[in-house]
Amino acid sequence: MAAGGLLATLPLGGARAARVLIVGGGAAGVAAAAALRRHRPETAVTLVDRHPGRDAAALTRHGVAVYRDEIGDLDWASGTALGAHGGGYGFDRLVLAPGVVFETAGIDGYDTRAVDALGAFWSGPEDEARLMRRVAALKDGATAVVTVPPRPYRFESGPYLRAARIAGRLGRRGKVLLIDANPRLPGGVAVPAGVERIVAPVVAVDSRARRVITPNGRFGGDLVNLIPPQSAGPLARRAGLTGADGWCPVDPASGRSRLRGEAFVIGDATDRLDKTAAAAVLQGRVLSESLG
Ligand SMILES: Cc1cc2nc3c(=O)[nH]c(=O)nc-3n(C[C@H](O)[C@H](O)[C@H](O)COP(=O)(O)OP(=O)(O)OC[C@H]3O[C@@H](n4cnc5c(N)ncnc54)[C@H](O)[C@@H]3O)c2cc1C
Repeated sequence: MAAGGLLATLPLGGARAARVLIVGGGAAGVAAAAALRRHRPETAVTLVDRHPGRDAAALTRHGVAVYRDEIGDLDWASGTALGAHGGGYGFDRLVLAPGVVFETAGIDGYDTRAVDALGAFWSGPEDEARLMRRVAALKDGATAVVTVPPRPYRFESGPYLRAARIAGRLGRRGKVLLIDANPRLPGGVAVPAGVERIVAPVVAVDSRARRVITPNGRFGGDLVNLIPPQSAGPLARRAGLTGADGWCPVDPASGRSRLRGEAFVIGDATDRLDKTAAAAVLQGRVLSESLG
């Protein structure tokens, strides 16, 4: 993997963007980079991620320049994304795929202790196995609490699937409470067997007592899994690409930002409701036709 630094400026070739910079090497960013290399081999593709995973690193074999760096800001005038160590990455087209960030400011008492005591386990599918290991260690007859943030959020059906799995693991003697901020269930989702659903937003936490606090009461358990409210990753906001709801408005056909024509946003950070890896990969793949 190459080290960060100022990238050489390449000449623009014809009408097509010669340099495409992708920030974010998750499902969306990796799919976009791979599709661009396949369908537009003349385009120089650079991908920057603060922690490039195996899929992102593997892109170097296909001619993508992959950098480990944190993009802190963007200089639109010169077409440069600014890295954490002073380096810059030039672009003709920018693709942001920064995922989501937890919005915990509205939850009273949510501090670093709460992060540990009421863990979210909500980065991706690998978190499910980590959480289920904790569930497996619970004693017979235990109570688990899972909270559902206000929609939209990453993987809409996920908290309900998770509650079902936990209920299955705890069996008849255990108890699962699902504290759901949304009055209505998502389409195609039912309250899982063995799960009690309470419609109420989490407004505060008591992490010492392992409890969440809602206008309808306090709910605690042997395991509390607080999935916080979410919005587009912070770089999207700094770049001026988020709307008042915290998500990036895009043209759904192309991924082009409705707030800045030279930028594209794909994956969970957009205002699309389908925030899954499957949707992110599709958006990444169609991007090569939309970039211009
Ligand atoms: C428990 C769970 C289970 C799931 N199961 C499924 C499933 O079965 N099927 C499915 O389709 N989806 C599933 N999903 C949803 C899926 O994980 C997400 O929709 C998908 O990961 C979104 O991809 P993304 O590329 O938009 O964001 P991410 O995968 O979050 O990638 C964003 C990347 O951007 C990087 N980044 C952000 N900001 C910067 C910056 N400033 N500088 C540098 N790098 C930056 C981050 O390091 C990160 O690597 C699940 C999600 C969860 C939580």
